[in-house]
Amino acid sequence: MPHRPYIVGNWKMNGTRAMLAEARAIARGAARYPDVDIALAPPFTLIGALRAEVSEIGVGGQDCHVAVKGAHTGDVSAAMLADIGADFVILGHSERRKDHGEGDALIRAKAEAALAAGLGVIVCVGETLEERDGGKAEAVVSGQVDGSIPLGDAAAEAVATGKVAVAYEPVWAIGTGRVAAVEDVVAMHAAVRARLVAAYGEAGEKVRILYGGSVNAGNAADLLAAEGVGGALVGGASLTADAFLPIVAAAG
Ligand code: PEP
Repeated sequence: MPHRPYIVGNWKMNGTRAMLAEARAIARGAARYPDVDIALAPPFTLIGALRAEVSEIGVGGQDCHVAVKGAHTGDVSAAMLADIGADFVILGHSERRKDHGEGDALIRAKAEAALAAGLGVIVCVGETLEERDGGKAEAVVSGQVDGSIPLGDAAAEAVATGKVAVAYEPVWAIGTGRVAAVEDVVAMHAAVRARLVAAYGEAGEKVRILYGGSVNAGNAADLLAAEGVGGALVGGASLTADAFLPIVAAAG
């Protein structure tokens, strides 16, 4: 099933209010690509301001806590993200899995909490270089999909309405300038799709699978044209309109 391309910028821990000018420029540019869904995930501190200033693109968080509220110093709940105007949240990014020891079960619980709060979710999966070199990439990523995508009635509804996406991001390609070969991207996206269909039935075809890992203006067209690729999750090249909009253009 063909999907509307979904291009999402992950600003990670980058951006103070001065960077809102880039978000405004991205939003202005987005108007030229009505057939592409475009979104930014800035740090928590900028979500409210970004939402107040731009309406043309989606705005999301980069993580949320599994609980709605409570004694969790430093954390932010999905309900809080929704309250401040976020549309979605990225979950299980490899930097969260590595820096914070997040595992599949927690990521699934967060995804289900996010859907309960009315947010869309982008669940990230991806193998390390060691796992790829050991011939385990497909098994690792399939296991991550099986373990971390949201399940239950709310998930079925969210899948049907396009609110669940998966990002395949090989860890060794994130922020390194190394990009996965197109044939490997196609194979891994097919493996992810198979697990989504196993979990959600036919509706699993509706889930957009994004590629992430050193996507830039030079490689976006090839990656986005690859079979099964429904968009891109972009880190470094999402920080300026000049770098990000050509990627959007490649999807449009
Ligand atoms: C990411 O942050 O998800 C990412 C893919 O980063 P980069 O594009 O910089 O590799």
